[in-house]
Amino acid sequence: MEIRIALKQHVGAPCKAIVKVGDEVKKGQLIALPDGLGANIHASLSGKVTTIDDAITIMADENQPDDYVKIEDTESNLDAIIAAGVVGAGGAGFPTGIKLNSEALKDGYLMLNAAECEPLLAHNIKFIEENPKLIIRGLQYLLDITKAKMAYIAIKKKHRDAILALSKESKEIPNIELKFLPNMYPAGDERVIVREILGEIMEPGVLPSEFQSVIVNVETLKNCVYAIEDRKPVITKDLTVDGKVKEAKVFLDQPIGMSISHYIDACGGFSIGSGEIVIGGPFTGKRAGDKAAVTKISGGILVGVEFPHDERDFGILACECGADEARLTEIVESMGGRVVASTKCKRMIEVNGRYRCNKPGECPGQAESVLKLKAGGAKVIIAGT
Ligand code: SF4
Repeated sequence: MEIRIALKQHVGAPCKAIVKVGDEVKKGQLIALPDGLGANIHASLSGKVTTIDDAITIMADENQPDDYVKIEDTESNLDAIIAAGVVGAGGAGFPTGIKLNSEALKDGYLMLNAAECEPLLAHNIKFIEENPKLIIRGLQYLLDITKAKMAYIAIKKKHRDAILALSKESKEIPNIELKFLPNMYPAGDERVIVREILGEIMEPGVLPSEFQSVIVNVETLKNCVYAIEDRKPVITKDLTVDGKVKEAKVFLDQPIGMSISHYIDACGGFSIGSGEIVIGGPFTGKRAGDKAAVTKISGGILVGVEFPHDERDFGILACECGADEARLTEIVESMGGRVVASTKCKRMIEVNGRYRCNKPGECPGQAESVLKLKAGGAKVIIAGT
């Protein structure tokens, strides 16, 4: 079985491989180093390196050890997180060691993003339900690293079992508190979390650190705990497989680099009427390419319905927190349609050359945009939210 470990699984430049074709590598071995902003990459399985391009391909040995090569001894827990190559596992991929290493967080706020924001995704909540003690220990490690005064767990009210489990484990701990998010998309957007927890409005382009805050995702926290307690590098990923498969499933601790098709097969294969495969959530996911494999930031493997055929002229209404123009265009073209007009939600404003939503989740009526698209020749409109 071959695995493909991408050299870019994070914000920043692709890592540089430190192994060569023909090398035998061990599970957990460091195989690529950051080249600027980035994070260490380790082999998720033992085997032989067969090719190196934008990924290191490894022909995995038939028999895999239970153990792995541990990260080196480090002077601090923060260094362990850096050595393990922890990055934002919720999709952002920002190196966690850099995020946590900020003086601005002293006496500030650590926030756990437990929103599991996009529909269908379920692996974060499943992990919390099964491992609430680890979550609380993880928050205590990060409180110690950042010197923040409070840790808040931001979770949607609908996740009752996860809330009960976390409440039980944290009730005697004065600096860990649960905070509830509305059951809406995008409740997990960091500006929504800061707004709901601190009552502060983050203008587009402003970072949580401006509010003495850092936000980490559930699986990112889990990877920090693995690095600190087990000296384990980031070699596994939690996944939700859903949509047009025979049986939707959640998979925890799966080797990074495994092919996406492996998980579709593990769900009994495609069901009737299946269409494209999307990596990520339904709103912000991207279509999987031929060689798609699990990375540190892939959360969902979703199989869509077969596209209906529609040759009409389309207008596109993009959203920052949902599908962007490129994704909407891809969908229109997959249906056989043509994009004749395009606009953005009126809440999107330009900040440093990028359009950002200034009130995520407080979505306005779009009558004005619809009229504009119709005036541009659109017979039908597709929106990103
Ligand atoms: S306000 Fe507009 S850009 Fe922001 S989340 Fe809602 S639809 Fe998207």
